[in-house]
Amino acid sequence: MMYLILVFLPTLLFSLYAQFKVKSVYGKYSKEPASSGMTGAQAAMTMLRANGLDRKVAIERVDGFLTDHYDPRKKVLRLSSEVYDNSSLAAVGVACHEVGHAIQDAKSYAPLVLRNAVVPTATIGSSLGYILIIAGLFLHMTGLSLVGLILFAAVVVFQIINLPVEFNASARAREMVSNLGIVNGAAEASAVRSVLSAAAMTYVAAAVAALVNLLYYAMMIFGRRE
Ligand SMILES: [Zn+2]
Repeated sequence: MMYLILVFLPTLLFSLYAQFKVKSVYGKYSKEPASSGMTGAQAAMTMLRANGLDRKVAIERVDGFLTDHYDPRKKVLRLSSEVYDNSSLAAVGVACHEVGHAIQDAKSYAPLVLRNAVVPTATIGSSLGYILIIAGLFLHMTGLSLVGLILFAAVVVFQIINLPVEFNASARAREMVSNLGIVNGAAEASAVRSVLSAAAMTYVAAAVAALVNLLYYAMMIFGRRE
């Protein structure tokens, strides 16, 4: 009970705050146009070209809100319509962040390679891991719970390796938007930084939440054993 109040509540509040923050910052800067007039798609193309990737990576449109991502298997940069077509500071910031991932992929950036290697186990861990933990506790089979716990630990490993990957993609975007004239002046650069920092906070919140869950499951399993 104490654990719930002392750990879960702050984690939940932090996560909600991060979600709120990213939506409000994105909302604010999606209304402020970049003086270069470039859309998210044009900004992404400019940054891809500057890195010699314009013929290797395709840019596509994808449905949804903030669904922008880079697909390393198909070498496709998928931008949501709102990012693809808009020349807002938020749109070019998000688009260039995703190009950051494409550059990481082209350079076989070590944390990205490691993160991709953990994905299959983490995917199993986020579904089956949880089921095995609960089933093991319910059936009084500690071994089963431990297998679930190890699988779930892969989720935590994924979320933690994800942090340097995301921070690095944003760092590349921040540098390039100014150097390539996608945004101009300190105020525009700072707006892009705000959007990217808000997005980064949601990844930190996700990593903290996964870690807190892991510790909670571990407490349940080992608490039961004694
Ligand atoms: Zn990212």
